Amino acid sequence: MRNSIFSLALNALSGHKHWQPTWRDAEPRAAYDVIIIGGGGHGLATAHYLAKIYGITNVAVLEKSWIGSGNVGRNTTIVRSNYLLPGNIPFYELSMKLWEGLEQDLNYNAMVSQRGVLNLFHSDGQRDGYVRRGNAMRLHGVDAELLDQAAVRKLYPFLDFDHARFPIQGGLLQKRGGTVRHDAVAWGYAKTASARGVDIVQNCEVRGFIVEDGQVVGVETSRGSIRAGKVGMAVAGASSQVAAMAGLKLPIESHVLQAFVSEGLKPLIPGVITFGAGHFYISQSDKGGLVFGGDIDGYNSYAQRGNLPVVEDVCEGGMALMPMIGRLRLLRSWGGLMDMSMDGSPIIDRTPISGLYLNAGWCYGGFKATPASGLSFAHLLATDTAHETAKAYRLDRFATGHMLDEKGQGAQPNLH
Ligand SMILES: Cc1cc2nc3c(=O)[nH]c(=O)nc-3n(C[C@H](O)[C@H](O)[C@H](O)COP(=O)(O)OP(=O)(O)OC[C@H]3O[C@@H](n4cnc5c(N)ncnc54)[C@H](O)[C@@H]3O)c2cc1C
Repeated sequence: MRNSIFSLALNALSGHKHWQPTWRDAEPRAAYDVIIIGGGGHGLATAHYLAKIYGITNVAVLEKSWIGSGNVGRNTTIVRSNYLLPGNIPFYELSMKLWEGLEQDLNYNAMVSQRGVLNLFHSDGQRDGYVRRGNAMRLHGVDAELLDQAAVRKLYPFLDFDHARFPIQGGLLQKRGGTVRHDAVAWGYAKTASARGVDIVQNCEVRGFIVEDGQVVGVETSRGSIRAGKVGMAVAGASSQVAAMAGLKLPIESHVLQAFVSEGLKPLIPGVITFGAGHFYISQSDKGGLVFGGDIDGYNSYAQRGNLPVVEDVCEGGMALMPMIGRLRLLRSWGGLMDMSMDGSPIIDRTPISGLYLNAGWCYGGFKATPASGLSFAHLLATDTAHETAKAYRLDRFATGHMLDEKGQGAQPNLH
């Protein structure tokens, strides 16, 4: 069913009783050309672009739970392309451009809102770092503006400018950055992939690989064996576990990242703000809740829940930036599983096992990458070559030393 003002009016007139399901909840078939493991944003986007751009529709997305139950439905919805390194900027800018046309492409309201992302700085050194980042962005054709304190004060007068331990000096603003309704992204990609013939199979856990003559030719699942010409992994926080089923050890650790939502308020924060003197970022959802988060919990885990010290740390960050937040009541918090790579950048590549492809290592920034990741992974699966913008995301860079370390933290995943 196409969404339009007419379908909305017609359905309103008939009491909203005739809406069709957004996608087909398919039964698994015995074989496909391509199987994608993981019905998160990246898996579903891959299916969409495989069908739409490469005409490959004999595809199944196998999801162990319900689609959107993973990080795609748990993140703080921030999208931006304010990267520093040449290996990253074109990829994330491609993603931003795809976000800008996403709702038309999917015929689905994903609430793409380019409300601006502001990264605050609090020292001369940090300002210089942001000047460098902003210049790198502009050299790649990405929008970036350096704001002084007066300009930040005009945008966000409620921040603590005068009494903070690390006073706000200014910020780097990307106006085209913003937020996107996270689960609508999963539903929108599922809608278009399904309409083109892709089977979206929920409650279908991959438990092993079928390997013949050293080549992956299918998967063992909780709903039986399914054969495939190619198998792509897009399981985010479960990447190491699923890869281990094929005997692969990935340069990835899984950590919990928590997010928080406050009670609803009248419009207060028009854009996205990140604190530069602590790990804290915040925006306001269209329903009115303040949506915020901070650092990952600093231990390896596969539990989708976090610990209290991080709750305290995040709330302290919020209080330091905007003390009036202390009067708010927290409504909900939750955790998701981050696939933290050793250099903080992702992997979109073939694996050493023929027929098996990898999309992983998104750390806590993979939501913004969803469209470009799906397009690049589809390109790889369809053509066996890396997409132009994803050439740096090779698996062997961890052996050759060609790291893409935005923060320069070295091989300590929890610091990226
Ligand atoms: C609290 C939080 C805040 C975040 N904030 C942001 C943000 O503001 N901006 C941003 O860019 N990024 C953010 N992220 C990161 C972003 O959400 C992730 O990097 C991205 O969603 C990962 O890709 P995905 O959507 O495909 O993952 P997921 O949605 O996790 O998809 C992976 C899927 O694989 C399935 N799966 C796992 N194992 C199997 C198996 N054996 N068989 C079948 N299926 C399996 C899982 O059930 C899951 O549905 C945040 C993450 C969290 C948790």
